[in-house]
Amino acid sequence: MADGKAPGEFDLIRLLRERQVVHPAVRLGIGDDAAILSPAAGRELLIAADMLMEGTHFTFPPLTPREAGRKALAVNLSDLAAMAAEPLAAFVTVALPRGRSASFALELHEGVLDAARPFGMSLAGGDTNAWDGPLVISVTVCGQSSAAGPVCRSGALPEDRILVTGSLGGSLSGHHASFTPRVREALTMQQTAPIHAMIDISDGLAADLHHILDESQVAAVLEAARIPLTPEAHRQATAEKPALVRALSDGEDFELLLTAAPDDAARLLALDLPGCPLTDIGSIHAGSGCQLRQADGSLIPLERSGWQHQL
Ligand code: ADP
Ligand code: MG
Repeated sequence: MADGKAPGEFDLIRLLRERQVVHPAVRLGIGDDAAILSPAAGRELLIAADMLMEGTHFTFPPLTPREAGRKALAVNLSDLAAMAAEPLAAFVTVALPRGRSASFALELHEGVLDAARPFGMSLAGGDTNAWDGPLVISVTVCGQSSAAGPVCRSGALPEDRILVTGSLGGSLSGHHASFTPRVREALTMQQTAPIHAMIDISDGLAADLHHILDESQVAAVLEAARIPLTPEAHRQATAEKPALVRALSDGEDFELLLTAAPDDAARLLALDLPGCPLTDIGSIHAGSGCQLRQADGSLIPLERSGWQHQL
């Protein structure tokens, strides 16, 4: 609709079109009424969408427009990583606030391209509008399953080990706006050994582990002493909210939480993933619910909201 046209919309689209990286699976990207994707033979298409709203998910500052664009794509790529899928294309829909500087939309899309570049994926389309509200950016990503197939939340089995990439806690002090989604690591892991279940940690370790347990209809025991904590989680630790609690409940870590049979977990742990330690933090059991083994060996229930009390 003419109403919603953003100033410079066509210049922006022309620029994006000139700069587009073309993934071989994208037969047609920006410039027509719809993009055309053809995934490799025998692979499945995976699609994820996430919307970020200024004032709800972030504010300017502390975020810059470029960081917001980068994050909007990165959170979607983290979802593809969690299914062990290879990113093919992104579609970006923006409601731009009228009256922001002319460079605002450019910087925002520059951030999207920053996040896309390392994965050779295309920015294959989108929609650009302006309105009197704050920025809304919605990104849809398409990926293709790896040769070993997609990994769902529902595949965890009793006796599986629970592994986590990287370290957890304190993400909102910066990591959430600058992280590299664990796409490569997920593909390498899935090539090395079958992963039974996987999720990316956006709500917090406790909440996201519960998602796997619910979908797989199994129980888990987490080892408190083994949970890898970020320096930031230690730095922000208080009596009410120690570092471990931050790791369990802060969220937006965008690390991967996965389960694999014990032999396969050992093969995964032997991998050398650059900049991405992998840690065994517990085990899957028959039954339901989650327990946390504390330093003294005692087991306490771990709710999906994390551990609220003093440890
Ligand atoms: P239509 O009116 O047919 O929907 P548009 O003028 O909205 O076409 O868009 C023209 C082309 O630019 C389309 O290929 C569309 O996917 C792409 N596009 C529009 N906005 C964006 C954006 N923000 N990011 C990437 N591609 C975009
Ligand atoms: Mg359109």
